[in-house]
Formats: sequence, structure tokens, C-alpha cells
Amino acid sequence: MTVVTRFAPSPTGHLHIGGARTALFSWLYARRQGGRFILRVEDTDRERSTDEYVQAILEGMAWLGLEHDDGPYYQTQRFDRYRQIIERMLAEGTAYRCYCSRERLDALRAEQMVAKEKPRYDGLCRDRQDPPPEGVSPVVRFRNPTDGQVVFEDLVRGPIAFDNAELDDLIIARSDGTPTYNFTVVVDDADMGVTHVIRGDDHINNTPRQINLLRAISVTPPAYAHVPMILGADGQRLSKRHGAVSVLQYRDDGYLPEALLNYLVRLGWSHGDQEIFSRQEMIDLFDLAAVHRAPSTFNPDKLLWLNQHYLKTEDPGYVAGHLQPHLAALGVDPDAGPDLAEVVRALRERSKTLVEMAEGARFFFAEHVAYDEKAVAKHLGEEGRRALGAAQAALTDLTEWTIEAIHGVIETVAASGGWKMGQVAQPLRVAVSGTAVSPPIDQTLQLLGRTVSLARIEAALRHGQS
Ligand code: GLU
Repeated sequence: MTVVTRFAPSPTGHLHIGGARTALFSWLYARRQGGRFILRVEDTDRERSTDEYVQAILEGMAWLGLEHDDGPYYQTQRFDRYRQIIERMLAEGTAYRCYCSRERLDALRAEQMVAKEKPRYDGLCRDRQDPPPEGVSPVVRFRNPTDGQVVFEDLVRGPIAFDNAELDDLIIARSDGTPTYNFTVVVDDADMGVTHVIRGDDHINNTPRQINLLRAISVTPPAYAHVPMILGADGQRLSKRHGAVSVLQYRDDGYLPEALLNYLVRLGWSHGDQEIFSRQEMIDLFDLAAVHRAPSTFNPDKLLWLNQHYLKTEDPGYVAGHLQPHLAALGVDPDAGPDLAEVVRALRERSKTLVEMAEGARFFFAEHVAYDEKAVAKHLGEEGRRALGAAQAALTDLTEWTIEAIHGVIETVAASGGWKMGQVAQPLRVAVSGTAVSPPIDQTLQLLGRTVSLARIEAALRHGQS
């Protein structure tokens, strides 16, 4: 049997952390089993679904690298198919038209509330023989079995049972003919050959209804795995109150997709005490049986830690590719300066995010240095300028522009002028970067190159001297 999983977001909001984790688990399970992963956009709620959210979801999935094998399918393009199945169910008697008015249903509900019963449809139209009232557009209800149980083996939670007596005769088509949520999911899962439904446990109450519907259309239900929810540090369900929750927001905040994926895979799943997982390791090791039953807590510090880890260890050329949009956002053109991968190498030890890295990279590509006047006051006073002048002379004479040779020059200048290394390095740093923080000064000068370095030193010596 080929495993088929799906991610089925409703485009009524952005791709958030919880959805991305569900998508990742579904994708990993399919990859691990050599199966297929489907992307299906559940856009039947036309009032709340927008194209913008659809695009944001597709963009988020692509950024995470959770590529789908089939789709994206759109439920709004499948209405003919849903109608066909509804007709079939009506003909086979597994569904029936219900003519009950809103007033009748409201009154029924009120009575049931007073009697402290669970509000549910009483089945009046189930076996209706009399001619239906005129001028009423009926809804279509599913004829749910009235006795027995729906039992399924949840791959995360173990066996789960619901009494059919607890389940309502679900409306599967509204009076305008449009299909409803549980019904479209069922038709799609059946048509698309889904073998494993992996989703949030907020859907657990839908599962017995969906199983009954599948049986009614003679389809063997898939296996189900309901993944526990994600909580914020305060124990409440993760939401916007806890900070950024959308995947694209993390991208814009300077996270690498590897960091977010690694963070997400550990959110409710573990493999011994391993924390760092490459994409391939996740695929090789992921197992639904090891998904936790208890909710997991979102920890932004750990995500930041992982981001630093990946900034430091991923190929600098790859990181440079992800840095580009952040530089562009600052109006920086990386073609106008040193090799970006080398700049990444110089900055990666000191950057927690790509946003920080872009800030730190800015001066490498600037036409004119923007001086932090506090740093100028501190390091380019009389003594500082003297040290800078001495460094300028020695660097001008330097023929070989390497890190080692530059380092040697700074050491010699410091020794001959009776300065500490920092007393030469800091004026140089302010001169070339405008601030008192940069990667090691020898590396910085080497990356900037001889011409730019010497021009900046000259400009710094003139700065404020006119
Ligand atoms: N469209 C549903 C949602 O976004 C998911 C349905 C499912 O996974 O079965 O919550």
C-alpha cells in the first residue's frame, strides 16, 4: 500500500506554527514511508477565505521546503463532484432532505436545553412520507447510524470510541446546495486515496462523523493520527498573544527554514534526547508512534538557539541566499562589495538572526560610512587619530592584503607606538565600519579590500576636521 497523507489548510488565516507542524508531520510521514503528500486548500468558507491567505500558505510551505506531490487542490473547484455524491447518497437512502424551518429547529433546541438534553436534530424528516411543504429549499442531512459505536485506533492516542447515539444527523448540503465541511473532507480523502489523516486534535470530534460518512459511501476509512495542541508559556493555546505565530513572520524576522523545521519537529515528537535534526535525519527517524500525547509548549528561546546553530553551521553560500532579501529590505546592494558568503562567514558567530546579520553586513556595502558619533568621540580623539594615522601609513605600505599580514601590521603599529592592540584596532574599526563593533578587524579590512579600507581610513581622519 502506498502511503498518502495530506495537509488541508483552510485559507482563513496565515500558515501558523500549529498548521506548519501538522504539515511537517504529514510530509515526514509520507517521505519516510516512500509515499505521497497532497496539498489541499479547503476554501469552501467563501466569506472567510481569501486569495491572499492562499498565497501566504503556498509561500510558507515553499519556504519551509515541504513540497507536495499532488495538488494544490481547491475544494471550490470540486463542487460538481460533491453534488454528485450527495445525489448518490440521496438515491441510496444514506442521506435525506430535511424541510425543518429555522424556527422549528430553534424551538427544538430551546426545549432540549430546558430538558437538559444535548441539543440535536430529532430526525423528524428522516422517514417523512407526507409531501414536503411547498416553497422550502431543503437541506440534506446524513442518515447517521442510531446505535452502536464508532471505534478507531488513533495512531497517537490509541483506541477511541464514540456512541452513535451522541452523533447528530449532520447537514451535508445547505439549502443553497453548497456542501458542508465534514462532507467535503470525506469526499476528498476518499477520492484522493488518503491513507493517513494527520491533523490537530481539535478535529477529533469530527472523526467519528467522517468515518460514518465514509462507510456510507463504501470507502474504508483511513488511519487517523491526532496531534496534541501547542501551548504558549502561560499554558494557554498558542495564539497571536504569544508573539509571532505565522511562518512567514519568522522568515521576515530572520529565521532560516532549517531552524523552524527543526524546532517544529521537536514540538511534540522526540527521538531520545537528540535536539538537532537535519532534514534527512527527520525523514529517516520520524515515527507517529513517538509523537507525544501531551500538549507541547512553544519556546521562542529554543527556536532562537536553533537559528543561531544553523546560521553558524549551514554552508555560508546558502545562508547568503537567505540573507539577500534582508539586505534588500535595508536598501543594500550586495553586488557592490565583498563576496557575500565571506561576509556571512565573518558575521555568523555574532548573529542570532538574518535581520541582525544584515544590519551587521550593511557597512561592507555602503558607499559612505555612517558614523556612530559616540564611537567616534570615544575612539577617534587625539590619541585615536594618532594610532589611526600610524596604521594608515603602515597599511599603505603593505603589499600583501591578507588577514595574517594585516594582523601583523596592527601588532607592529601597536608595539611601536606603545599602544595596546585595542587602541589601534578600535580607531580602525570605527574608521571602516562607523561603529565600535564589527567582526575581527584584520578580517574586516581584508574583506573590504585595500582600496576601500584605505579610502575609509582617510575619510575618517578628515571626519569632523574641516
Ligand atoms: N481544513 C481544516 C483546518 O484547517 C483541516 C481539516 C483536516 O485536516 O481534516 O483546520
